[in-house]
Amino acid sequence: MSDESSVHVVMFPSAGMGHLTPFLRLASLLVNSNHCKLTLITPLPTVSHAESHLLSHFHSSFPQLNLLPFHLPPPHSPPISVDPFFHRVQTLRHSSHLLPPLISSLSPPVSIFISDIFLLTPLVSITQKLSLPNYTLFTSSAAMFSFFSHFPTLALAQSKPDADTQISFPVPGLPFSPLPFSSIPPILFQNTIFRNLLMEDSPNLTKLQGVFLNTFESLESHSLKALNDGQVLKNMPPVYAVGPFIPFEFEKKNTSTTSLISWLDDQPIGSVVYVCFGSRTALKREQMREIGNGLMRSGYKFVWVVKDKIIDKEEQEVGLDEVLGVELVEGMKEKGLVIKEWVDQSEILSHKSVGGFVSHCGWNSIMEAGLNGVPILAWPQHGDQKINAGLVEISEWGIWNKSWGWSGEHVVKGDEIGDAIKQIMKNQVLKDKAMKVKEGAMKATSNGGDCEVTIQKLIQKWKNNV
Ligand code: UDP
Ligand code: UDP
Ligand code: UDP
Repeated sequence: MSDESSVHVVMFPSAGMGHLTPFLRLASLLVNSNHCKLTLITPLPTVSHAESHLLSHFHSSFPQLNLLPFHLPPPHSPPISVDPFFHRVQTLRHSSHLLPPLISSLSPPVSIFISDIFLLTPLVSITQKLSLPNYTLFTSSAAMFSFFSHFPTLALAQSKPDADTQISFPVPGLPFSPLPFSSIPPILFQNTIFRNLLMEDSPNLTKLQGVFLNTFESLESHSLKALNDGQVLKNMPPVYAVGPFIPFEFEKKNTSTTSLISWLDDQPIGSVVYVCFGSRTALKREQMREIGNGLMRSGYKFVWVVKDKIIDKEEQEVGLDEVLGVELVEGMKEKGLVIKEWVDQSEILSHKSVGGFVSHCGWNSIMEAGLNGVPILAWPQHGDQKINAGLVEISEWGIWNKSWGWSGEHVVKGDEIGDAIKQIMKNQVLKDKAMKVKEGAMKATSNGGDCEVTIQKLIQKWKNNV
């Protein structure tokens, strides 16, 4: 702590790299301000290896950060969800009653709590009892946050539309409203835990003191304005755009991709397509083989991160040959790199040889592409990803072939994939628009830019209340 009146911020992320990464990036912004003491509640054991690696590297880079272990009770049996990350979200929600003694034991006393959006309702009830200001970090776009906030109204008006319907829904704050039914995750119109979670949590947004978003004004001005003007939800707390979060140096230590970078060094500028579907999307093997065929057909060099399991701990059980077939693996050797382990995505996207990104449109990936001005071939798979893809599409720095559907709906053939890759790699308009997005991103994160100004104002506000 730098002085007597420093604030003590406690952060509580949810499961998965898509949530932990933006939390740590926000944490480093706060720690670097030199005016915050920071405690990160760390649920243990982590779901994936990637999370535990990231946490340990983060801690060695920021030893002043207090990692507070939160040992979870034995998992619920049978699992609440087949998806281990979502199962963990539910475990965290059900274990929140264990938090008050942990929070009360902290010194100096806690001034601010920042928790993950997926933990909203249980955490708000705790922070209200402890009279602690509670902020949330929503880990997706402002467009998705508009959808999240509006969902109960939409769901109550339209309880169960026919799945084939062409219907679309007006959603305040969305830059491409009305939202087609096909862009809403199917699980939200079924009786699922996930739907119940949104129905329960959205109305509690008004109990928060503020919402952090990893986005920036020039990209999402429409949604940000609607959110802050109360057009999306009456009594919405202030929504702060503090992105795009910058990947920090310590993340580089999280990988062993030196040979990959030297391979990229040898390729011409903008000539390589990078393919990755995030930290936990395992595609069907048949679909992966079509991607391999598509990459070969495109004629471009590539770096392709293959994931066969949702959870990385199981990834070592199978080799690439088994997943893709020996013939394809051999055939691809001259053309590109196929990697079946964690890579430093930000480092790849920032490499001058990379000219396009085939992405599932997880929001962290989109922000990382934006920061580097990389055009996107959007291939959303689950959840918020079609809404994020819609934003990429209307900002014109990527293309999205909507007929490809949600994950597993049908197998997209290699020739279509190859054609789409050619389209993004040679399209000058996309490149120019992507560079515009990059300019906005750089401005927001520059010295004296929106991100720094907002964080400093907030810290000042918190200090005044200590
Ligand atoms: N990521 C990475 N290396 C990998 C896979 C993913 O660095 O091999 C990072 C990626 O850069 C991003 C995060 O993991 O920061 C994934 O978050 P995103 O929101 O894009 O998708 P999710 O994994 O939540 O679906
Ligand atoms: N991994 C990671 N970040 C790293 C190193 C590894 O996310 O810096 C992932 C890697 O993709 C693999 C798993 O963690 O799936 C196991 O890594 P490692 O071989 O280091 O085994 P460990 O030491 O964790 O047992
Ligand atoms: N989920 C799912 N299918 C979907 C969308 C979501 O199973 O089509 C589950 C999944 O388990 C995930 C959780 O809902 O862990 C939240 O998904 P989403 O992509 O909305 O959020 P994220 O965690 O990627 O930010």
